[in-house]
Amino acid sequence: MNPNQVAVQEAARFMQEHDRFLVLSHVSPDGDATGSALGVVLMLEQLGKEYVVVNEGETPIKFNFLPRFDRLYNLRKQPLNETFGAVIAVDCADESRMGDVRSLFASGAALLNIDHHPTNDHFGTVNLIRPDAAATAEILFDVAEAAGVSFDEELALCIYTGLLTDTGGFRYSNTSPRVMEIAAQLLGYGVKPGDVAERCLEEITFAHVKVLRRALQTLQLSHQNLVASITVSAADFAEVGAEREDAGGLVNYCRNIEGVEVGVSFVEAEPGVVKVSMRARDRVDVAVIAKQLGGGGHAKAAGCTIKGLLSEVQKKVWTVLDDAVGVKFDE
Ligand code: AMP
Ligand code: MN
Ligand code: MN
Repeated sequence: MNPNQVAVQEAARFMQEHDRFLVLSHVSPDGDATGSALGVVLMLEQLGKEYVVVNEGETPIKFNFLPRFDRLYNLRKQPLNETFGAVIAVDCADESRMGDVRSLFASGAALLNIDHHPTNDHFGTVNLIRPDAAATAEILFDVAEAAGVSFDEELALCIYTGLLTDTGGFRYSNTSPRVMEIAAQLLGYGVKPGDVAERCLEEITFAHVKVLRRALQTLQLSHQNLVASITVSAADFAEVGAEREDAGGLVNYCRNIEGVEVGVSFVEAEPGVVKVSMRARDRVDVAVIAKQLGGGGHAKAAGCTIKGLLSEVQKKVWTVLDDAVGVKFDE
């Protein structure tokens, strides 16, 4: 067995040898985080295990087509009076990505860390980290097989959703032959690709369009047109009546501009807290930049959260980006 197969077996054993689990993904969960967390939940159900599945905050309502979505706890709204000795974290690059859910860990808790970020720091007691995987959901496909779980339409839907969203609809460079092979198998269990794509990729809220309209006004090119950036302030959200999740995907408008190497969005999620998202074309590894700024991610998609005024945060990011791009902000 190669080291990957050993780690997959260990993950399967982890699910088999404990009885009650805390299942979690990362703060501001995306399709891979939510699909993977609910995929784990379905696997645990088949194995006859108990679980509580928790997020620090709200899970985007657009994922409510996923099975067991209504079992997701929002810790901010529903405090939990329990600590857990067995934890499964999916799609979290480091401990801080789990947010306040960490307060539910019993001391000395066993923690299974399943993830695909190259910046993952192996924070678990058991770590199944595969940076070659396009999505955490891709890794779960193997874990399900190793744990002897059988696939059905619900489990297939969870895993398919992770694959679809983390590959940008099977378009990004992480779309490997294996991704397509797994996706094809999942369709065989009854997943309707048009329906999933409609919910995850096509459908947008009107509030998103209102945020987008404002954000595009701020779009600027810098670094000899190699960098494009966009900014949304907390005041923008308040004035158009939008939520933080309505600002998803704005960074792509920056990166997609012809000739641009790095797209950056600065989204002030709450006053004084700025979520920075970065997307790269070919020449720059944005995971390295995000890591330097206290975050993480992948070479072509990474992020971090920085406290401070928008202008201060922008200055910090430009300082690191100047070196990475080899051109200064105002050149
Ligand atoms: P986003 O810009 O939030 O869509 O994130 C892009 C990629 O970077 C995703 O794979 C995220 O999981 C990862 N990422 C975003 N923020 C962080 C962070 N603060 N720490 C580690 N990874 C992050
Ligand atoms: Mn994610
Ligand atoms: Mn992911």
